[in-house]
Amino acid sequence: MNRLKGKVAVVTGGSVGIGAASVIRMAEEGASVAILDFQDPQGQALAADLTGRGLKADFWHCDVSSEAEVKKVLDEVAEKFGSLTVLVNNAGISGPNKPTHELTEAEWDSVQNVNVKGVFFCTKHALPHMKKAGIGSIINLSSIYGLVSAPDIPPYHASKGAVTLMSKTDALLYATENIRVNSIHPGFIWTPLVEAHLKTTGLDPDEAKQMTDELHPVGHMGEPDDIAWGVVYLASDESKFVTGSELVIDGGYTAR
Ligand code: NAD
Repeated sequence: MNRLKGKVAVVTGGSVGIGAASVIRMAEEGASVAILDFQDPQGQALAADLTGRGLKADFWHCDVSSEAEVKKVLDEVAEKFGSLTVLVNNAGISGPNKPTHELTEAEWDSVQNVNVKGVFFCTKHALPHMKKAGIGSIINLSSIYGLVSAPDIPPYHASKGAVTLMSKTDALLYATENIRVNSIHPGFIWTPLVEAHLKTTGLDPDEAKQMTDELHPVGHMGEPDDIAWGVVYLASDESKFVTGSELVIDGGYTAR
């Protein structure tokens, strides 16, 4: 309770999955939470549910690949809640599951536009608000696939590798301004993204799920809350000495 009292947090892609779990846990810990997404009904319903419980949340329609939209919405969030001190760059897509030699430029760009440029735009336009507040925590959702790879979805692996190092660069650039930047590296977490990705394998859904479970030494995939608690920690002052770090939450996937 109240681990995030006084924080104003933005969660991109907050309507479902890991983003939604992070929104809920941060609001329950006392933060004012802005949900940014282009899935409006789910995001609006989540905000209504939280405010109905007496917590602080609101929804903004925002496509993170549009710089103009990102700037406008982040300014509105800071205006409504009085500041902006936490940014969770969570919006992401897995993209086409094709080998490199079959990918088009447009398919490549579609993934980078959300997973890399979206992180850049949100970070760029959140920073002035954090500088003004004199404190900030930016939490970037990379992946185990920002640390190791796999023989599939090449644009996704490239994008998550980029996010890993963008986090360290920004950690160094803003360390003296009390703005921390860290990345989180989830193993497979059962969300709409993973459900959609497994369909692209062409395998029987139950078989694909079991094979994915078995990739993790603990024997199963994670849940959105497994990541949300990491987000809460990095958003809170409990992690005040943590910047430029990689928080791996993967059931042992990358330990081998
Ligand atoms: P999800 O598909 O379940 O949810 C993603 C949310 O982002 C959706 O609400 C979607 O509408 C939103 N979104 C997508 N593009 C957007 C855009 N351009 N602008 C605004 N919102 C947009 O995904 P998830 O599984 O919850 O993943 C969340 C993040 O965690 C992603 O960055 C993903 O790459 C990363 N991640 C997920 C897993 C996993 O196994 N689920 C593993 C490692 C990393």
